[in-house]
Amino acid sequence: MNIHEYQAKEILRAYGAPVTRGLAAFSSQEAETAAQTLGGIAFVVKAQIHAGGRGKGTFKELPAGAKGGVRVVRTPADVKASAAEMLGHTLVTLQTGPSGKQVGRLYVEEGASIDKEFYLSMLVDRASSRVAFVVSTEGGMDIEEVAHSSPEKIVTFSVDPATGIQPLHGRKVAQALGLSGDLGKQAVTLTASLFEAFTQTDMSLLEINPLVVTKDGRLVCLDAKVSFDSNALFRHPDVAQLRDESEEDAKEIEASRYDLSYIALDGTIGCMVNGAGLAMATMDIIKLYGMEPANFLDVGGGATKEKVTAAFKIITADPNVEGILVNIFGGIMRCDVIAEGVIAAVRQVGLTVPLVVRLAGTNVEEGKKIIRESGLNVIPADDLDDAAQKIVAAVKKEAA
Ligand code: GDP
Ligand code: MN
Repeated sequence: MNIHEYQAKEILRAYGAPVTRGLAAFSSQEAETAAQTLGGIAFVVKAQIHAGGRGKGTFKELPAGAKGGVRVVRTPADVKASAAEMLGHTLVTLQTGPSGKQVGRLYVEEGASIDKEFYLSMLVDRASSRVAFVVSTEGGMDIEEVAHSSPEKIVTFSVDPATGIQPLHGRKVAQALGLSGDLGKQAVTLTASLFEAFTQTDMSLLEINPLVVTKDGRLVCLDAKVSFDSNALFRHPDVAQLRDESEEDAKEIEASRYDLSYIALDGTIGCMVNGAGLAMATMDIIKLYGMEPANFLDVGGGATKEKVTAAFKIITADPNVEGILVNIFGGIMRCDVIAEGVIAAVRQVGLTVPLVVRLAGTNVEEGKKIIRESGLNVIPADDLDDAAQKIVAAVKKEAA
C-alpha cells in the first residue's frame, strides 16, 4: 500500500527524522491558511499524488509553460493562487503515464534553501533477506538514469537483522555522501531513525529523493515516498487508515474486497487463473502468441463460487478486455466450483467477448459438464498452449 508524501513525512517526523514543517490542504483557502500558519518568507506547494516526478510534471488543463506540481513561492497569496491552479486538475508525470492523476490534496511546506541534493532509499532486498540502503550523491533526479549512466555513484549495503542498525551503517551513509563533522553525525542519527521507522511500521520501500543539505547546514528529507507491506497492515491500523482509495485502480479495490490477488494491466486478454505461478505463465504465453494480458489474477486455492463470480465480473467490467482466458489447474481448487462461478457471473453480467476455458485436475469432468450444459458460448481448451492460441485467434477473428 502506498501513501502520500505528507503522510510519509508525518511518520518520519514521529521517528525523529528531520523533515520540513508543513500542512496538508484540500482547498486553495486551506492552502493559504496553512501558509499563514507556517509563516516565513518562502513556501513550497506540492501536489499530493501517488507518483513521483511531480516537479517536472505538467498539468493537462493548464497552458504549456505553466509550472509543475512542486512550486516554490513567496507569499500566502501566491500559495493560494498556485493551489487553485493545481487542485482538481490532472498532473502528468513520467510515473503517472499519459493519463495523469487528478490532484485532490496539497502539501504546503516552509521553503528550504538547498545546498546539495542526495538520494537515499531503503527496501527489502529479497536476495539477502535483509533491509538494504541505496545511497547516492546524485539526488533530485531519476535514480534509474543514474544507475544506468554512472553506477559507480550508487552505494548499497544491507543491515544484518541479528545486529540491527549500528553507527557503522550511518557512517557508511555519511561516507557515501561525502559528509563529515556535524553533517556526518546528522547522517548517523538520520540513518538510525529511518531504519527504526522502516522496520517498526513494516515498510517495503522508503525513498528520500532528494535528501538535502540546507545552506544552514542541516540534513533534511525533502521528499518521501513510502510503500508498506500489505500483508503486515493488520498490525498497523493507524497506517491502514492512511489509504487513499482515490489513488488506486477501482478494479483493484473491488478485488481486494474479495481477497483476490488482482493487478490491472494494459493489455486486452482478461485472465482468471489459480496460483500465482500459473497466472504468470498464462500471461507469458498470451504474450508469446502475440497479445497482451489485461490483468494478473490469482483466485487462490480455496475460492468459493461467490469469489469466482466477483473475479469474473471485475474482468468483464474492464473496457479494454477483448477476450477472456480462464485457466484452472484444480488441486485444492475444484473445477466444478470454477465452472459454477463463471456461469453465474456470465448469467448476471452477460458475455460480449470470446471466452476460452481450460480446466484440469480435481473434478474436471464435472466442471466441463457444467459448462457444456450451460448452453453458453464457451470455447473449451485442453492445455495452456492450446488455450492461449484459441483466445488469441478468437479475439483476432472478432476484430476482423
Ligand atoms: P518529485 O518531483 O515528485 O520527486 O517532488 P520533490 O519533492 O522531489 O520535488 C522536486 C524538486 O523540487 C526537488 O528535487 C527540489 O529541487 C525542489 N524543491 C522541493 N522542495 C523545495 C524547497 O523547499 N526549496 C527549493 N528551493 N526547492 C525545493
Ligand atoms: Mn522527489
